[in-house]
Amino acid sequence: MFELSREHEDFRASVREFAEAEVGPHIEKWDRESHFPVHLVPKMGEMGLFGLVAPEEFGGSGLDEGAFTSLCVAIEELGRVDQSVGITLSAGVGLGINPILTFGSQEQKERWLPDLVAGRALAAFGLTEPEAGSDAGATRTRARLDGGEWVVDGAKAFITNSGTDITSVVTVTARTGERPDGRPELSAIMIPSGTAGLTIEPAYHKLGWHASDTHGLTFSGARVPEQNLLGERGKGFGQFLATLDDGRIAISALAVGLAQACLEQSTEYAKTRIAFGRPIGANQGVSFAVADLAVAVEAARALTYKAAWLKDEMHAGRRSLAQVKQAAAVAKLYSTEAAVSATRVATQVFGGNGFMEEYPVARFYRDAKILEIGEGTSEVQRMVIARGLGLPVD
Ligand SMILES: Cc1cc2nc3c(=O)[nH]c(=O)nc-3n(C[C@H](O)[C@H](O)[C@H](O)COP(=O)(O)OP(=O)(O)OC[C@H]3O[C@@H](n4cnc5c(N)ncnc54)[C@H](O)[C@@H]3O)c2cc1C
Repeated sequence: MFELSREHEDFRASVREFAEAEVGPHIEKWDRESHFPVHLVPKMGEMGLFGLVAPEEFGGSGLDEGAFTSLCVAIEELGRVDQSVGITLSAGVGLGINPILTFGSQEQKERWLPDLVAGRALAAFGLTEPEAGSDAGATRTRARLDGGEWVVDGAKAFITNSGTDITSVVTVTARTGERPDGRPELSAIMIPSGTAGLTIEPAYHKLGWHASDTHGLTFSGARVPEQNLLGERGKGFGQFLATLDDGRIAISALAVGLAQACLEQSTEYAKTRIAFGRPIGANQGVSFAVADLAVAVEAARALTYKAAWLKDEMHAGRRSLAQVKQAAAVAKLYSTEAAVSATRVATQVFGGNGFMEEYPVARFYRDAKILEIGEGTSEVQRMVIARGLGLPVD
């Protein structure tokens, strides 16, 4: 429990090497130009990063014990160098591959997964809408059956990986009817890229994650075959809740990578930056702030890998979903808030340089905030945790 395996640490070293060689030297430019580095996706595919939790028959590494932990290691290491590249992997697997793998038919898996696992394609998951985010059950997008096809009308907001040159499919939640109790029946439907009636809106102008792909989507009479239903009709709500549990652990790993980078860079800077004739780290006011960062990183990492381990244990049938759900929310809440604080400390340690885009901490500062919002805000995590404690919170 207290140490990752030798295999995980070797794997960490290889991802770190990749991130430092392939991402580090270029990311400042990509970020400045809001460029999505699509060429990295097949390279990450070749390294097996998109196939860590996929079976061999689809090109994955076969679901070894500890597979989800490996995915978190990869996300942490990419996130240590750049958050946009980290979220591209996290969303590509957690929101793109995972729902198809978990709920798809054999035919759907055979059609979509080999390209996604190889990094030749990306898939996205469209849950959020302009009027339904935290309250995702309030989905307004509708899908009705007509002549053996689903006809989809509505809109999705902020969808990661949905508009890249290699995006092959977006799975969206839609109202497909009404339940006997009057609540909407929600289902998940796969919409291939290029479907007539699907409009990929222009990329957002974001505070951070500039090198990540995010678009709104509009559906206007978009028609797809009836067989594009993912999983059972009416089970869309439960499917996305399950998808989000994994996603939260992955975002927690992304936050750990960010906090780790802040710790390393602040430590180095505090040792070398001279003020009043000595390194700034000779002042307790600086070095204690860095010491607190070290504590937060350790705590965030422990919570994240505990949650990842529980997920791997659940996969092996040894832990319950309730344990994973609670641990995922705890890890996500703590790690993302720690990461936001870490970027504030790091930019402060860097002084005026911390406000300059040549220094990665400036980018980290902009990139951090979304961690407290995506895949469930901090308030939503507190809601999940409180419910897990048996509190009657709304
Ligand atoms: C860059 C980016 C990428 C994203 N990628 C994806 C993606 O790939 N797929 C996808 O489906 N979505 C994606 N999202 C959407 C993201 O998950 C939502 O933005 C998030 O869940 C919050 O929803 P919202 O924006 O509608 O905020 P709202 O739900 O409107 O919340 C606004 C504020 O009110 C608070 N609040 C709301 N209800 C309560 C309550 N009951 N109690 C206390 N506080 C409450 C929230 O915590 C928040 O602080 C992405 C968002 C961004 C910015």
